[in-house]
Amino acid sequence: MDFSHCFEELHEECGVLGIYGVEDAPRKAFLALQALQHRGQQACGAAVCDPAGNICVHKGAGLVKDVFTESALAGLHGSICIGHVRYPTTEVGGMENIQPFMMSCSAGRFALAHNGNIVNAADIKSRLEALGHLFNTTSDSELFAHLIGMGAKKGDWASSIIPAANQLDGAFCTVMLADGVLYACRDKYGFRPLSIGRLGDGYVIASETCALNALKADFIRDVEPGELISIGPDGLKSLRHSHSAGRRMCAMEYIYFARPDSDIEGCSVHAFRKRTGRLLYQEHPVPADIVASVPESSMSAAIGYAEAGHIPLEMGLLKNMYVARTFIQPAQSMRDIGVRMKLSPVRSIVKGRRIAVIDDSIVRGTTSRQIVKMLRDAGATEVHMLIASPKYAWPCFYGIDTGTRDQLIGADHTEQEICDYIGADSLHYLSEKALFEASGRAELCTACFSGRYPTELYGHENQF
Ligand code: SF4
Repeated sequence: MDFSHCFEELHEECGVLGIYGVEDAPRKAFLALQALQHRGQQACGAAVCDPAGNICVHKGAGLVKDVFTESALAGLHGSICIGHVRYPTTEVGGMENIQPFMMSCSAGRFALAHNGNIVNAADIKSRLEALGHLFNTTSDSELFAHLIGMGAKKGDWASSIIPAANQLDGAFCTVMLADGVLYACRDKYGFRPLSIGRLGDGYVIASETCALNALKADFIRDVEPGELISIGPDGLKSLRHSHSAGRRMCAMEYIYFARPDSDIEGCSVHAFRKRTGRLLYQEHPVPADIVASVPESSMSAAIGYAEAGHIPLEMGLLKNMYVARTFIQPAQSMRDIGVRMKLSPVRSIVKGRRIAVIDDSIVRGTTSRQIVKMLRDAGATEVHMLIASPKYAWPCFYGIDTGTRDQLIGADHTEQEICDYIGADSLHYLSEKALFEASGRAELCTACFSGRYPTELYGHENQF
């Protein structure tokens, strides 16, 4: 099998933030966006409503700490703002795509940022282009902004956001700032998390509760699927842009993307992952002297597996925090070196031992293969690979960068074939039933494991 043309890791798509009625909102945004940094490291930005009601945007390529320098923060003033961290997925990674976007229409100026992926974006864009709309970017946010601008009435933004959001199908969490009011809406399926917190007399809305915690904001509730929130001088109002189409939270948010100190729709991410580890042991106990996690997202699952099996949890693999992520290495040869620089086995621990390695997922298999080889080279006598999620076999169209089906090793290979490819003594996946059991939920999006997509695909199925 040759997967040398493939990237290995899954990538989060962006995080959003909104702050209303909080003193020195730009500095608070700086802190909260850093807490969301794991959702996107390519670029970030904020739009701030200054005391005179003008919206000022500051954004750039790079990490939050590098874009929001002390001099940049010194020039931003206000108590209302929106923010964004970005990882490019279907979009080209150009500067013009960095959010928030500042837009103008007959009703005035507004700023907007979003995460997720609109599955019917191409259809809507063709319709708008036929009407003469011109687009500066390849972002779904600009599409949403055009739809809002088409029906906008001065002083009544909600009446244009609602029909605009109703036309969008797919995954989106959007924050918007106009006329000193903060708006936030979530798609009708609830694919991505979006939580509301209280901070003093003001509010914070963020993709994950870890950003609320960073500001010491008190969690109030999640934005509901299909809901539009507005926060202005009259307080927080709840409207609907669409009927809810269930609660199809992305399972990979729990498994991999979200920080373990976040809660998603009432479920601790760490607790979820630990339960998957326990269930993985119940389904697949392997003969092992130690359990080791692939740092860092599988640590919670490894704790669960080790506890359930009464097997010592050891630091068999160490992560070097200061190496660039493998996906920025263009050639496979460089990516291989990147894996080895990023992860290294602790020889004194693995030598002469049978190791149960816990990982969150296998996408292309190249990293798993390297890990198994590294551990064997370091003296491990057996390497059993245990995956705390079902086999990843279908592409995601809701904002996660997976490429096409032929780039996924799980698409048309059996567990035994994948095991042979990565060179492990055994390979086991968590069942979908156990995944639901760990979440305590009746509904999740599990399309990348099952091929059961919660939405129409509008031609994306041609990528199968
Ligand atoms: S297809 Fe997979 S990665 Fe995409 S939203 Fe659904 S569960 Fe998440």
